[in-house]
Amino acid sequence: MTLACLDLEGVLIPEIWIEFAEKTGIDALKATTRDIPVYRDLMAQRLRLLIENGLGIHEIQEVVATMAPLPGAAEFLDWLRENYQVLILSDTFYEFSAPLMKQLGYPTVFCHRLEVAENGTITDFILRQEDQKRKAIQALHGLNFKCIAAGDSYNDTTMLGEANAGILFCPPENVIAEFPQFPVAMDYGELQKEFEAASARIA
Ligand SMILES: [Mg+2]
Repeated sequence: MTLACLDLEGVLIPEIWIEFAEKTGIDALKATTRDIPVYRDLMAQRLRLLIENGLGIHEIQEVVATMAPLPGAAEFLDWLRENYQVLILSDTFYEFSAPLMKQLGYPTVFCHRLEVAENGTITDFILRQEDQKRKAIQALHGLNFKCIAAGDSYNDTTMLGEANAGILFCPPENVIAEFPQFPVAMDYGELQKEFEAASARIA
């Protein structure tokens, strides 16, 4: 049995922080793991910017409530689930992703959580564990599953490397250049073909 492990933001849904930065006009919130590869550093900067601007969980959830999955994402996920058991491994937070998961038919998601004060201020973030995407694949290997993983950015590359096959989906140029070992898919049709090719390769 082969499992499909997918990143969430940039693969099935838009980047939540970028949407929020656009809605609030705070450009510095547009930084992602594409810009700051160390996730803890990136999150510390985001939480500092939120507090400086008097924003909290309620304002972010209002923006998430207006978002939808990327065009074609739900159909791709349906195809994937017909062929594999699917696990979403994400560095987002349950407090952000919940409304969007309904639109994708509640797939299984492993992500992090936030510490929120009563007034909605986000006071801290609690990582489920460091490098959780790679460690999840390791644990699945321990259960004798093969894994094909797909993601779009730096924070996916250890997961892609740990998996039996890794695929980059719509990555930025610098990630393509730095990780030439992974095939690249630029739309869901290509991603489906890469999953089929990977399945044949690791069978
Ligand atoms: Mg991503």
